[in-house]
Amino acid sequence: MGTFHCKVLFTLLSAATLLAQPHYPVDWKTVAPEAVARFTELLRIDTSNPPGNETKAATWLKQVLEKEGIPSKLFALEPDRANLVARLKGNGSKRPLLVMGHTDVVGVQKEKWSFDPFTPTRKDGFIYARGAVDDKDNATAGLMLMILLKRMNVKLDRDVIFLAEAGEESTTRVGIDFLVDQHWSEIEAEYALAEGGATIARNGNVRYVGISATEKIPRPVRLVARGHAGHGSRPNPDKAVLCLVSAWADVRPWHAPMRLNDITRAYFERLATISTPEEAQRYNHINDPAAAPAIEKYFAQHEPGHSAILRTTVVPTILKAGFRTNVIPSEAEATLDVRALPDENLDRFYSELRHVIGDEKVEVVPSKNRGRPVSRPSRLDTAMFRALEQAQRRLFPGAITLPSMTSGATDMAQLRAQGVDAYGFGPIVDERDGHGAHSDEERIAETSIPKLVEFLWYTVLEVAATR
Ligand SMILES: [Zn+2]
Repeated sequence: MGTFHCKVLFTLLSAATLLAQPHYPVDWKTVAPEAVARFTELLRIDTSNPPGNETKAATWLKQVLEKEGIPSKLFALEPDRANLVARLKGNGSKRPLLVMGHTDVVGVQKEKWSFDPFTPTRKDGFIYARGAVDDKDNATAGLMLMILLKRMNVKLDRDVIFLAEAGEESTTRVGIDFLVDQHWSEIEAEYALAEGGATIARNGNVRYVGISATEKIPRPVRLVARGHAGHGSRPNPDKAVLCLVSAWADVRPWHAPMRLNDITRAYFERLATISTPEEAQRYNHINDPAAAPAIEKYFAQHEPGHSAILRTTVVPTILKAGFRTNVIPSEAEATLDVRALPDENLDRFYSELRHVIGDEKVEVVPSKNRGRPVSRPSRLDTAMFRALEQAQRRLFPGAITLPSMTSGATDMAQLRAQGVDAYGFGPIVDERDGHGAHSDEERIAETSIPKLVEFLWYTVLEVAATR
């Protein structure tokens, strides 16, 4: 009985909160084609990084916003690499909300594409172009949000700031680092929404709305093996190349231990509720020492994405050694892409790596670059996260909201390090679609763009509109 009453009360309360959201009737039938048109215009601007040339995208966004009566500013550390910031003022009763999308994209190997990557091409319900899901989708959603808030004259409790940032793809010094270091007051916010999440569909039905609340931290290391140079015709005992190969042979079977944090624990718990009994059995027993080895093995073979979020991972990505066939090189080097769990003790991790290699001729050299900062995960008990969950229930009632940790890195790391609760959201993609971020023939379902705008709209109304 008690449960029943609680349930009724809960339903009534949810209905009441839904009703309480101020109503601004957007005509989604006309907004949808407008959103797609602006998206394709943005895709047409080649902002491959390097070199970036994000100023082209920033000035385009600026003139679109200007036509709508929304003022914006450009901030550039280098003239060709501008960031755009636009702000709609609220009444100041709550702290600002920052909505971001990065304008730069990774480069392309044109020969691997059947279309020109910067001529958005529609085919079978998809739009193909570089940046389609990383990250001109989020940038477009942010732009459309500002346009709609302004057109509908939405009364806001907090400022809504739109940031289209440069340099997200490995050159954050001109983008988020520059803004945080030199223009923090322009983007300072209580909450932020950005890329990094995904709305995952299976056979056309949305299963879950993934909202990223933390991310792994790239901390590349170099393995440097040293030996004696010599003539290739006279093999000597200490050959740098072979030392390096044998060091990697030692590292390869080694894995950092698997463990959960608050976000991945919530992720697996919730994922279990929409999974088959066998899947749920695995998701619910990751911490069970008796079951863990088999689960670990299964994930490694069948669910590598899950393997990646359960531990600090190590992958060799660049090898350098030698320059002539008949010269034994004195040095050989491998770059390892280390992706650390947010709470990893890196000094201990490096010393374990040295111990596993166990060869003083092979040095483990952590990168001296600044890298993304370490930060605490964003909280799940905030008004912002509840607003995201509510938008999910409104738009995808059969699905669930799944808090997640991304294995990749985003500009939210810098914001979280400043104390901002930042959440990644993303468009609807099929769980089996192989044309995602950074892939050849990157694509997005055309209908995903208006839905992304709608999702952002209802989320922001909930957390920022005056009641
Ligand atoms: Zn991105």
